[in-house]
Amino acid sequence: MRQLYLTNNDCYKRNTAKADSRYIRFQERGPQGIMMHSTGADNPNLRRYVGPDDGNLGVNIYGNHWNNPGLDVCVHAFIGETKDGSVECYQTLPWNYRGWHSGAEANDTHISIEICEDDLKSAAYFRATRDMALDVVSELCMEFGFDPLTNGILIDHSEGAAMGIASNHGDVTHWWSRFGYSMNHFRRDVARRMKEKENAMKKEIEDFIRKEIKTAVGNIKIPMPNVDAAAANAAQNAVNGALSIWGTQDKHSRWADDAIQWAKDNKLVNGHEAGNFGWEKPITREELITILHRFSLMLEQRQKAQ
Ligand SMILES: [Zn+2]
Repeated sequence: MRQLYLTNNDCYKRNTAKADSRYIRFQERGPQGIMMHSTGADNPNLRRYVGPDDGNLGVNIYGNHWNNPGLDVCVHAFIGETKDGSVECYQTLPWNYRGWHSGAEANDTHISIEICEDDLKSAAYFRATRDMALDVVSELCMEFGFDPLTNGILIDHSEGAAMGIASNHGDVTHWWSRFGYSMNHFRRDVARRMKEKENAMKKEIEDFIRKEIKTAVGNIKIPMPNVDAAAANAAQNAVNGALSIWGTQDKHSRWADDAIQWAKDNKLVNGHEAGNFGWEKPITREELITILHRFSLMLEQRQKAQ
């Protein structure tokens, strides 16, 4: 999405000036929903409304785009065709500015997305602009935490009129219904798109974390929680098994005979679990320090006895 703020539009200036409490309130609490509009005129070119030309829009030879003073309309974004005929979205107001789009109270609550109409006969143009709207609106719903399926959050101008928060217009339903598409379809599609984006994001984060951990420990296969519980269990069991002295009895190498007998005689190593000493097992820090402690007590006792 490109940005071209309509800074010469009186609506933009009123926002910048925080002209009255309605602007301040909208800017402070942010948008509460999204209202879909379409222009009601056969002109799919963005340059009719958005200007001046940024090299992508093309030149509006009449200079009658909305980046001019003296207009009583201004919306947050336009969807329509650039000069090469591709469908794009231009953000024309900051999302937390109060727009002039509904002719009534919806200005105080809703972001406005305006789609440039053609002659309402092209299914391809309907689909291309609808798909762009799906993309933009699902992003906005995620950014502002809107649930598109909650009543009154994602509506079009005609629904706003029925609710008494917008003037009596029929957009966008008057156009979309020609192609068997309704705001109910749109809300459902937005919700689905949000779910897809959320899942893709979750997967990206998971992959990132897994990659980071792998790099950190040097390409060891990491058993992730919930991913491979069996592998995690097996790894833990392997560690436990390596340390356990269960069933080792008094088995040891011949070269250690003398030292082992000495350790036993002085009760530095007692073994446990029915005479298992684990002579050939690794030793933990707590075991090592216990043996040293016993050794120092042994020396103390000998000194006292002397
Ligand atoms: Zn409208």
